[in-house]
Formats: sequence, C-alpha cells, structure tokens
Amino acid sequence: MTKEEFRKRAHELADWMADYLENKESYPVTPRVKPGEIYSKFPDLAPELPESFDTIMQDFQRDILPGMTHWQHPSFFGYFPANNSEPSILAEMLMATLGAQCMSWLTSPAATELEEKVCDWLRDAKGIDPSWKGSIHDTASTATLSALIAARERATGYEINHRGFTGKEKFRVYASSQVHSSIDKAVKIAGIGLENLVKIPVDEHFALVPDELEKAIQADREQGYLPLMVISALGTTSSTAVDPIADITRICDRENIWHHIDAAFAGTALLLPEYQHLIEGHEGADSYVFNPHKWMMTNFDCTIMYLKDPRGFVHTFSSNPEYLKTRQDEEVNNYRDWGIPLGRRFRALKLWFVIRSYGLEGIRLKIQGHLDLARKAEKWIRNEENLEILAPVNFNTLCFRYVSENTSQEELNSLNEAWMNAVNQSGKAFFTHTKLNGNFVIRWVIGQTDVEEKHIQEAWVLLVDTLKATRKGF
Ligand code: PLP
Repeated sequence: MTKEEFRKRAHELADWMADYLENKESYPVTPRVKPGEIYSKFPDLAPELPESFDTIMQDFQRDILPGMTHWQHPSFFGYFPANNSEPSILAEMLMATLGAQCMSWLTSPAATELEEKVCDWLRDAKGIDPSWKGSIHDTASTATLSALIAARERATGYEINHRGFTGKEKFRVYASSQVHSSIDKAVKIAGIGLENLVKIPVDEHFALVPDELEKAIQADREQGYLPLMVISALGTTSSTAVDPIADITRICDRENIWHHIDAAFAGTALLLPEYQHLIEGHEGADSYVFNPHKWMMTNFDCTIMYLKDPRGFVHTFSSNPEYLKTRQDEEVNNYRDWGIPLGRRFRALKLWFVIRSYGLEGIRLKIQGHLDLARKAEKWIRNEENLEILAPVNFNTLCFRYVSENTSQEELNSLNEAWMNAVNQSGKAFFTHTKLNGNFVIRWVIGQTDVEEKHIQEAWVLLVDTLKATRKGF
C-alpha cells in the first residue's frame, strides 16, 4: 500500500468507524452463525498475490462482521463489559501508527514516563496508598500470575528462579470459593499445583470468611506447608462480592503472606469516593490489580497493577542481557522488568486520552450513571413476585432468576437457562449466567459506555415477555 493510498483508505476507514459507532445498536448483539461456518468461507491456502483493499474490506463486511459479537452494543449485558470510547479508539490508532515497542525507558521515554504518570493519577484518584507504584499489563490474568511468581520468589529468597523446584516445596495459596478462574490458572503455571489452591468458604454475601482463612492457614502450617499468597476479591466475577480486605490484610501481615487484591472489574468504582472504604486496610497488602479495559472506557487490553514494593518484583523478573543494557538503567523504570513479557505496547497513551477527554469527573459521571441504572433495574426485579435477586447488588451487576414454589432446583435451573437462551437468541440483548449455591442465575451487568435508560427498559420488556413464553413451554 502506498502512503498516498494509506491516506485515502484511512479517511474512508474513519468514516466506516464513525458510522459503526453511530449505528452499533442496529446489529444483533450476538451473531447467528454455527461453529465452523466462518472458517469454511475462507480459501484453504493463503493468497500468493496481493489483493486490493476494496476486496479485503468487502470480505470483512460480508464474512467477518456477521460473525462478530458486538461488545460495544449498549444492550450487551453479559460477562463483564470490555467497554471502549471514541478517545480510546483514536489513541489506539495513534499507537498503531507509531508502532513503538516500549520495553525499556530508552525504547520510548515518553511511553515509560506517561505510564508512570497515568498510573499515579489513577492511584491517587482511587484512594490507593500514595507510596504504591503502578505499571500497565495486558490482562489481570498475567498481572496476577506475575504477582504469584513474585510472592513465590520472595518467600524462597529467589531460590526457585535460580535453582528451580527441588520437589520438596509445599506451597499453599488461598482465595475464596468465588475467586476468578485466572487464579486457578496462575497457580498451575507458577508451579504451585491446583491441589495447593485452598478455596475458603464464603458467607451469605459470597464474601470470604476470615476465620475460615485463619483456620486453613494454621492447619497448613501444622502440616508443614508454606502459605504464599492470599487473593482477595474486590468484586467477584459471579456476583461482585467484596472480600473483607482489612481483615485479610491483618491475617497476611501477621503470617507474612503476600496479599493480592483482585479488583479487575469493580476497581473502577473506587473513583467514586463513597466506594473507597472498600479498600480500607489495603496499605498493608502487597498488590492490587484493576482493569480499565473492563469498565473505564479504555479499549482492551489495559490492566494496571499497583505494588507496595516493586523492588522484589523487579528482582524476580529482571534479566539484563548485554543487548538490552542502556546508560540510563540506574535512573529509570524499565517496565520490561515489571512483568512477564519483554515487549510492551504503548497502552498508557489510550488511558491518557480517556482520562483527559472525560476528565475524572466525566468518568465518575459515567460510572455513577451505570450504578443508577442498575438500581432501577434492581427495583423492577424486586417488584416481581416470581423473580428473586440472589446476591447483594454491590455495584452494577444483578444476579436474578425466576422462581416458583414446589419446583425443584433442577427444573428451575432448566427453565432459567431456557429463558436466558431465548432472550439471547432474539439478538436484541445479551446476558450470561452463573451458578450461586447451585442455582442458575442470569447476570445483568450494566456498564456499557453508551447504555441508557431506554436500553434497560427495552431489555426488561424483552425479559418479561420472553419469560411468559418460556414458562408456557415448561
Ligand atoms: N479477575 C476478575 C474478578 C475477573 O472478573 C476477571 C475477568 O472477568 C479476571 C480477573 C481476568 O481478567 P483478564 O481478562 O484481564 O485476565
């Protein structure tokens, strides 16, 4: 592609993008395709000869777009959102254009120093201890994995990094039974072993019970285990339950265990001062992770991890081969040493664009709007005799189900699942589910950048109408 053609195509694409963003509601939220259908549309062999941009774009619209789930649709209420925004998209375009690989300070001083600055801004805005330092990662999964590896190394004097496992290690990691599956994955990858991830019981609000944690740690110590880390959740994935951070910090401090706080989704709420009490006691913890790429209008991927003391972390991950050494190494942050990958994207740029375009005040207004909409939807559900909400509504996630007397859990689960599937099949809204105490519940997460009251009203009508039809079929 010539530079001249690039200019022309970029203008055309900008129009396409603006049209898409304006009309995103007109697409079905989820695609109506069967497994394998998209794959079979493409030729068996990669093209040998160049193809025109027009042809590629036509195929994109014909073959790719109908197979997409429209995550930015205002009626996407499933999982947790991965919401974006116009300033973030524009910054991604700039990032792609600069194509910088920001592994070290020298490989792009502005990228490193902007990263430090935006992490500081958000740390202070969220009420995180001002002595903590942040860096940007691709996902919470890798950030948490790196925290676990750093905890393993701190606890063993960095011996496993040097010598590898001896086979005699007996590590334990603790988290509530509601913890995200990325913790299970991290425990596997870090060589701890799934058997050594101890799932601590939760209370009626699905929050970890500190007494149970203490008991588990004591029992393990008596059997010669070395407790490495406790992961507490500030907003579990199933129901956004909040673990008692201060109590867990107290236990971890006393026991000399790394305390990692997973606030991947709900951490954005801390921008509202009235939510900051949730991290009281975090000062004594070791790490805290949250995803601007979930609920802060910043394109996936963008995770920030804050560390009380980055030195042990850097000691765990740094490697300084000759070809990476620079004259400034002693004076600067080389973020390649703050996590697993060497290469790093310039993710701070999109955060900077988002924070400056909205202002912290604008971001607060957006998330407050989502929380208000969730309160409205909660009232509608609570007013229905045959619907129930099965977990506290701590933020903007509602876990609800249809219920009726003299119906077994199994039947109710089947009915609720059929109800959710029928709603999703309409293409007008999209919900996902979880199980709480064995009960199938539909999760309604209201966090899209452009979600408005009309969208939740339409979704509510759709839910109620579809329930009537589904009940008839049972
Ligand atoms: N932690 C929690 C509480 C989550 O809800 C999720 C994803 O939904 C994750 C961690 C993993 O996030 P990521 O996709 O950034 O790895």
